[in-house]
Amino acid sequence: MAQTKSTLTHLECGNCGKQYAPNRLLNLCSDCGKPLLARYDLATAALTLTREALKQREPSLWRYEEVLPVQNDWAMLRLGEGWTPLHHAKRLGEAIGCPQTYIKDEGLNVTASFKARGLALAVSRAYELGARELAIPSAGNAACALSAYAAAAGLPAHVYMPRDVPSLFQVECRELGANVTLVDGLINDCGVKVREGVAAHGWFDVSTLKEPYRVEGKKTMGYELAEQMDWELPDVIIYPTGGGTGMVGMWKAFDEMERMGLIGAKRPRMVTVQSDGCAPIVRAFQQGVEHAELWQGARTVADGLRVPIAIGDFLILRAIRQSGGVALTVTDAEMLHYARVMGSKSGVFPAPEGAATLAAQVHLLEQGWIKPDERVVLFNTGSGLKYAHLWAHVL
Ligand SMILES: *Cc1c(COP(=O)(O)O)cnc(C)c1O
Repeated sequence: MAQTKSTLTHLECGNCGKQYAPNRLLNLCSDCGKPLLARYDLATAALTLTREALKQREPSLWRYEEVLPVQNDWAMLRLGEGWTPLHHAKRLGEAIGCPQTYIKDEGLNVTASFKARGLALAVSRAYELGARELAIPSAGNAACALSAYAAAAGLPAHVYMPRDVPSLFQVECRELGANVTLVDGLINDCGVKVREGVAAHGWFDVSTLKEPYRVEGKKTMGYELAEQMDWELPDVIIYPTGGGTGMVGMWKAFDEMERMGLIGAKRPRMVTVQSDGCAPIVRAFQQGVEHAELWQGARTVADGLRVPIAIGDFLILRAIRQSGGVALTVTDAEMLHYARVMGSKSGVFPAPEGAATLAAQVHLLEQGWIKPDERVVLFNTGSGLKYAHLWAHVL
């Protein structure tokens, strides 16, 4: 059967550097318990993954197959993930005094959020390596994306979400065939339940950064951004950060692209935005520490940001600091306000997480941290359509 062009060579612990052969199901580093990252033979990848070759490739994240882990064509689960539009939001940019404002609209992904990128890769690879049943703790969107890809693969999915997750997320998972369990607590409490199921039934755990391939899916946002901006990365990227897979993934993508000669050494300043009701990464950034402690009593309408503790905290903080970036909070009220500003001035109806990036941009412009002539990319990580429960309150 046909092989992909993947140049995957091994997995490497992001903390202690221990190496692993990639051809079996793995979760965390067996020595230090930290996330594993996929490594490629980038010299070989660079021979075929060229700017010119990319022009002929399919409009999905699979266009970057050399730097993705899947080895066999039959294992690539395709539902139309990735290759989302990058809009130059001219009217919005002029309104806020930053004409070079762009929106990467991830709401157009499968199951209406960028979680599809990570789960497309995690499920394809788990399927390829023989996983029998998959499990996930989720604040909402990741569960939907897992449900979709598990359905495509024909694998049972067990999803655990907080009891107060909006009903649409539960409905979507159920209709996609997943086994849904609601948990009293937050995503980390759901994680405890998943670990029990893993121990009892041998499920494979696809928690974010607890298996190596979700980050490989999310990193394609970095590749797409470079390609869509004609290989000239923006000055600033503003990203609504929960578990941080996207931050870690894009930072990894920039490094890989430079090694392949696709881009130069210039990097965007990476900005993390969180809700003031759940801001463990912002607090750790401000304290100058490498790990983020659990945030007590996490509360925010942005479900994707309701992540009180992140196993990849040190990798997120590293990306922010190495890039000369910053981390800041916005309020839930600001998210609701800026959702309408973004919607009415760009045509993109954002998730509250996406609206948070615009609120952050306005703050950073006011502080002079972003200059009016800089190129800024906002990540709208999900569609506002999934948050009908929320907009009902702001009518
Ligand atoms: C999960 C999620 C986030 C946070 O993404 P990470 O990469 O885990 O930090 C942001 N926005 C939405 C809509 C999400 O579903």
